[in-house]
Amino acid sequence: MILLDGKKLRDLTADRLKNEVVTAMAESAISKPQLAILQVGDLAESNSYINQKKLFAEKIGASVIHEVYPTKISEEDLIAEIVKMNRNDQVHGIIVQLPIPEGLNKQRIIDTIDPIKDVDGLTAKNVKRLLAGDEQAVIPGTVFGVLSLLKHYEIPIDGKKITIVGRSMLVGKPLAAALLNENATVTICHRHTENLAEATKQADILIVAAGSPHLITKNHVRESQVVVDVGINFVDKTVRLALKPENEIPKKHMVGDADFEAVKDIVSAISPVPGGVGPMTVASLFHNLIQAWKAQW
Ligand code: ADP
Repeated sequence: MILLDGKKLRDLTADRLKNEVVTAMAESAISKPQLAILQVGDLAESNSYINQKKLFAEKIGASVIHEVYPTKISEEDLIAEIVKMNRNDQVHGIIVQLPIPEGLNKQRIIDTIDPIKDVDGLTAKNVKRLLAGDEQAVIPGTVFGVLSLLKHYEIPIDGKKITIVGRSMLVGKPLAAALLNENATVTICHRHTENLAEATKQADILIVAAGSPHLITKNHVRESQVVVDVGINFVDKTVRLALKPENEIPKKHMVGDADFEAVKDIVSAISPVPGGVGPMTVASLFHNLIQAWKAQW
């Protein structure tokens, strides 16, 4: 079994991007690549993702502006903040950290981002480009992360049967579009799919993005199949300190959508959680930032 190692590829990507930044800045007097992260509220999960983005930025010589707004910010005020970032020529990429509070119109807010600075690839204009197979489309970080892992490990996509479990706008749907652009034969499964195991087993490559821990068991996979696990779930794990029952504490444990231990000896390759797609999502965001930076010289 081959482990699709996202940490290793993330580090290789960081080295490549760092070189690109150093070389470009030595050649001309341009300002550092800069990402603006707009956060509404203070979700612990978002804080942790933002920290990972800041660490990665530092590694490659990019900088980050991190703005935090109160959860009760109005849609108009948030839009005005994005417009400010659009006009700031020292800012090359803008992302709105998701999720944002329910009362805000997410797509209207995202669509305010100037498409040239849309490094998450979520504006309507960009989504349309991706659907059209336009090479200029920005591929959203998670999707680019999955594609990069497959390509790095030389797993063929062209003509292959790929089953995706999950149809979100953030992962499942853009992933299907990107894989169609790479000439795969794509099947998308979701909650209403009858006989999930039948659909997952027929795939050469199975990609799971359902947000459901251990959804994929040994009954959903077969030999010589590649499994890419996009799921990030936190489940309780009891940790016993000093082997005394009274010292048991519940601890959050990160798992994917596949039961890794159960499927790893059946399939030919699998990405672990943590350490698979997650680190590549961060690296891919910065790949998009560097592209956007170059497009704005
Ligand atoms: P994300 O954006 O992180 O991919 P979402 O929670 O927005 O995740 O979407 C989850 C997707 O996974 C939905 O499309 C849903 O239909 C699919 N899904 C969730 N549970 C199952 C399941 N048990 N079987 C098949 N599909 C599922």
